Amino acid sequence: LLRAHGLHKSFGDRSVLRGVDLEASQGTATALLGPSGSGKTTLLRCLNALDVPESGIVSIADVEVDFDRLPASGRGREAILRGLRAQSGMVFQQHHLFPHLTALQNIIEGPVTAQRRPRDEAVAEGRALLAQVGLGDREDAYPSQLSGGQQQRVGIARALAITPRVVLFDEPTSALDPEIVGEVLAVIRDLASQGWTMLIVTHEVRFAEAVADQVLFLDDGVVIERGTPAQVIGDPERERTRRFLRRVL
Ligand code: ATP
Repeated sequence: LLRAHGLHKSFGDRSVLRGVDLEASQGTATALLGPSGSGKTTLLRCLNALDVPESGIVSIADVEVDFDRLPASGRGREAILRGLRAQSGMVFQQHHLFPHLTALQNIIEGPVTAQRRPRDEAVAEGRALLAQVGLGDREDAYPSQLSGGQQQRVGIARALAITPRVVLFDEPTSALDPEIVGEVLAVIRDLASQGWTMLIVTHEVRFAEAVADQVLFLDDGVVIERGTPAQVIGDPERERTRRFLRRVL
């Protein structure tokens, strides 16, 4: 369902992704592990076209973008990037909810404004999503009236509201107090069991081990190890991976 090939991304003279390949099939969860600064966030942002790689290919479902051939500017370029962006929903480290909108209004914003879906339909689906993340009774609450974990669960419902082919999680629990990390991880685990295709950047190695079908370890802009959790976390081949796991486990 998702494929990235040969992704390169630099900021100025700093090369952050140096040829990343990635494949994820429909209904699987992929965990991206790696030290700080290894390029995990940048990789997710490139898959979502929030960052634009200099070269490489990203394809999600039936949309394929070859960044070597992307127009340098203009409407054509924007349309191509928007097309790719519409294929995935992103859950950020900080939820980025609109503070002046209620939980439900935050969720229907994408479907109604960007996708021009009928409001009634978006509201009905938004309510179902809120129920799914355990917040069925909080649709009228503003972000400031919700706990950090609840805000992040609204963020997840919002990412799902555009019915993306792939959900991208960027360290969804790293800004949360330890005691509420569990409630957000439980929601993500639920989504995995429902068959959503997900990529999850996380430092929660035990969670990755339990939920992921596939684990990738990034180091300095390159995937240096990939496989099942049992392979990459349980029995890593590379010394670099072992050193990282010793530190975080
Ligand atoms: P962390 O676990 O700390 O979030 P990461 O693996 O997600 O790290 P990235 O956030 O992808 O790493 O960053 C990789 C490198 O790219 C870092 O050195 C970062 O400073 C740099 N970088 C990221 N975004 C930008 C940007 N917009 N401009 C310049 N440098 C950037």
